[in-house]
Amino acid sequence: MKTECPVCSAEIELAKDSVQGELIECPDCGTELEVISVTPPAVKEAPQEEEDWGE
Ligand SMILES: [Zn+2]
Repeated sequence: MKTECPVCSAEIELAKDSVQGELIECPDCGTELEVISVTPPAVKEAPQEEEDWGE
């Protein structure tokens, strides 16, 4: 499953077992990304807050 980094437009390969809400890191720019959809695969930039990471 491939999608595109919203920050640097790099191609990102999502793991087959990725789930919605999972946090991944762009291999190109290092931005933390949140999986917002698996089918079709889509990610957005994760919130940059350091606290309050609850649900
Ligand atoms: Zn990126």
